[in-house]
Amino acid sequence: MRLICARMQSGGEPSARPQPPQGARNLVVVVLDSLRFDSWVEARPAALAQLGPVQRRWSYATWTAPSHYNLLMGLMPHTSPPEVYASEYYKEDFRRYGERLGVEGMEFKKVLPSIFLPTYLRNTLGYRTGAMVSMPVLNPYTVLNRDFDSYELMPAHNDMAAMLPKLAFDAARPGFWLLNVGETHYPYALPDEDPSQWPRISGVHGVFKTLDDDPADRDGAPTEPEEFFDRAKMRELHGRQIEAVTYIDGVIGRLFDQLPSNTWVIVTSDHGELFGEDRYFGHGPVMHEKVLEVPYVEGLVP
Ligand SMILES: [Zn+2]
Repeated sequence: MRLICARMQSGGEPSARPQPPQGARNLVVVVLDSLRFDSWVEARPAALAQLGPVQRRWSYATWTAPSHYNLLMGLMPHTSPPEVYASEYYKEDFRRYGERLGVEGMEFKKVLPSIFLPTYLRNTLGYRTGAMVSMPVLNPYTVLNRDFDSYELMPAHNDMAAMLPKLAFDAARPGFWLLNVGETHYPYALPDEDPSQWPRISGVHGVFKTLDDDPADRDGAPTEPEEFFDRAKMRELHGRQIEAVTYIDGVIGRLFDQLPSNTWVIVTSDHGELFGEDRYFGHGPVMHEKVLEVPYVEGLVP
């Protein structure tokens, strides 16, 4: 019976939702998928800089699904502080929600037992909750879609601007939005780019090894170690991600203009990306510093 009641409550009946605390702020978390810290730094995004100086932080996971689960638990990319117990770091990170949300007395034990930010914000603080995601691996049928009033997989993987008209706030309740943005994800394509012009990488073995694998075909060339990556291609791909940040910065500027003034904004990434370093490309089954190194910035909307 309790399960049924809980389901009815989470079915969106406004009267079942608690009244939000006075002055509670909107919270918008923008995740620029796969964005490396140094791509942000090289792009020097002006709109994003209004939130404050970008921090170099570390993702808890190397790819999209576990990283977003971690983010929705409320744990933002970490600072990797030495000589600190994990439990103490988590507690301190949750205390930060006091400032982010403008709600007093935030602490880790309040998000128990779900340890899921949308659940806490919606069912305990009375928020409206929404998500728009670009990556199919985060689609609405996954476990991530829990206690969201709306949750949408965007039609295109790389069009943050299409999210802006759908971003709604309720005057009577604060809102939480998760925006997963795909322009910074491979193939680092802007929405107006013709897909036939996207760079093609079919797989590590098919593409990154030089086509000429047979030493006999080299006609006496020096037996240098084989080039595993096309380095020019890697530089081009990294450049495309930097260009994507420059473009996204313009969309972020429009987002800032649109957000209510009492909105706390976090912009970060779910993981980094490898562009040929130590013979790695991309993210996921990669053990490398660059796949965990992410940008992080937060503050009240400028
Ligand atoms: Zn991702």
